[in-house]
Amino acid sequence: MIRLTRRSRWAVVHFHQLHTQTLSFFSSTSASTSPTLHSPPPVRVELTHNAGRGVFASRRIGAGELIHTAEPVVSHPSLSSLHCVCYFCLRKLPNHESSSGVPQTVSFCSKQCEEQSKKFYDVEKKADWSRFNEYCRLQGLKYPLLVKRLACQVISESVPPEILDILQPANLSNYQIREMKKEADLLRSTIEGSGIESAQIACILVLLTDEWYTAVLARIRINAFRIELAVGSYEDLFSSAAASVSAEGAVGSAVYVLPSLYNHDCDPNVNILWMESVDAKMKALRDIEEGEEMRICYIDASMDYEARQTILYEGFGFQCKCPRCVSKD
Ligand SMILES: [Zn+2]
Ligand SMILES: [Zn+2]
Repeated sequence: MIRLTRRSRWAVVHFHQLHTQTLSFFSSTSASTSPTLHSPPPVRVELTHNAGRGVFASRRIGAGELIHTAEPVVSHPSLSSLHCVCYFCLRKLPNHESSSGVPQTVSFCSKQCEEQSKKFYDVEKKADWSRFNEYCRLQGLKYPLLVKRLACQVISESVPPEILDILQPANLSNYQIREMKKEADLLRSTIEGSGIESAQIACILVLLTDEWYTAVLARIRINAFRIELAVGSYEDLFSSAAASVSAEGAVGSAVYVLPSLYNHDCDPNVNILWMESVDAKMKALRDIEEGEEMRICYIDASMDYEARQTILYEGFGFQCKCPRCVSKD
């Protein structure tokens, strides 16, 4: 399989980098149901036999346990949620309904989110993004918004331009690359027409090349999560090991490091979910033994075998050979 070969080679090249970088992208939470979360998360990132790197349990983990949380590297609200969620953490804002197309400014849920956004937002505010946003809206695109946010983070020196390099990229067709170049042009012309100093713009344009744009978007396409905030109390969600949690529609999308290293399984032992904000929570769906690989389901696990195979191949580029698929369940 082409995909697995590429993935293994990639994993070898970046493995050392991974160990150091993943550590900075997950965090514990004091609101957890487990006292052990104040210590490092019970996970190890290692190479698997046939699927590149994977995430393994470094101790026994009980069903229902919150394994770790993770903050995104980059996130963005969906255009329809732009005015009803926090522009940084995607938390629902009180008294805000979905956008009716009336232009409004974006909002933050707290001083803390405003403070954490200050660097990239100061850059973003200097440019008029209406053409870029309108292009995304008309084309039904959400991922270029993540690239725009990342570009502003890079320009403000909040993150290095190669921050997503450790993630696996999608294979892109020539058509997709051509489309992405149009978006990259739009991104650069928006920045060129901004109030950023011309000397600084020259430096920025050297960074935000077509190659940078396509490399970033290729990684976002495979690794971005659609953020659906769960409905229900924290206790309800973690008191049972149930796989399914009810959620409202997507409020945005985000890219993480550690959650992206979990491989796929159509009968996963870990679930990724979002409670009140974009911070991801990885929850054990059943007892997991020390050394066992932990896997999440990239798609809707309730689909039948044929549908799962098609979506996984078209969306993620691999044929699933998990035990459930092998038995054609
Ligand atoms: Zn917020
Ligand atoms: Zn499968």
